[in-house]
Amino acid sequence: MHLLVTNDDGVYAKGIKALVTHLSKRFKVTVVAPDRQQSATSHAITLHKPLHVDKVNFGHAAVTAYHVNGTPADCVKLALGALCEKPPDLVISGINSGANLGLDIMYSGTAAAAAEAVLQGYSAIAVSLTGPPFDFSASAQIAERLIDAVTRRDGLPPDTYLNVNVPPGPYEKLAGIAITRTGVRKYRNSYERRIDPLGRSYYWQVGEVLQMHNDADTDVRAVEVGKVSVTPVHFDFTNGSLLVTLKEWGLTL
Ligand code: MN
Repeated sequence: MHLLVTNDDGVYAKGIKALVTHLSKRFKVTVVAPDRQQSATSHAITLHKPLHVDKVNFGHAAVTAYHVNGTPADCVKLALGALCEKPPDLVISGINSGANLGLDIMYSGTAAAAAEAVLQGYSAIAVSLTGPPFDFSASAQIAERLIDAVTRRDGLPPDTYLNVNVPPGPYEKLAGIAITRTGVRKYRNSYERRIDPLGRSYYWQVGEVLQMHNDADTDVRAVEVGKVSVTPVHFDFTNGSLLVTLKEWGLTL
């Protein structure tokens, strides 16, 4: 089996290294990942400048790796459109250093890479470790279990990826796997104003997570009680109930 692996923390991050090291024991792996930190770049793609690709040595015979001066979505598009010699059976994004819970997936490059793979017609899994601490070994084992589960069922339905969040700690200490829906996670929108050496002011984002109510079946609650959260995510952005109501507004030209 052939896996395409990418991430948003960059090809030199510890999370993708741990994931690829673990998966390459069993699978042929192609890595196409950003050459630098690209977290919170969401689904951006590069249109007005060239994408440069360089080989990266992961030190495993089963691994072919490249880094790209682009976003996670660029990496997936480029891998599937040009770099992969054979189409992958599955696309894995991660392991992200930090949670991608609730509406984090709106900003997440990790989630967007999985979403791009889905748009290209592939099954995909996004994996994040909700540390600190950031020991990625349990997350890599979870990724492997989910790869096996998905391939046993010949992939996921069209337009859907799995968003997986793993709490920190050893595999043996995980409290189980919860199938969840996306919860609510918001950040305080705040900026620290500072002065640079030339006397100009600049701003540094310092938003922290707000405590929100979340039901027991959400991804946020699952990881709070030590469980691995697995959320099937798809792209129906339409508010179905308002669709009905809007028609009743009788809008006309
Ligand atoms: Mn990241």
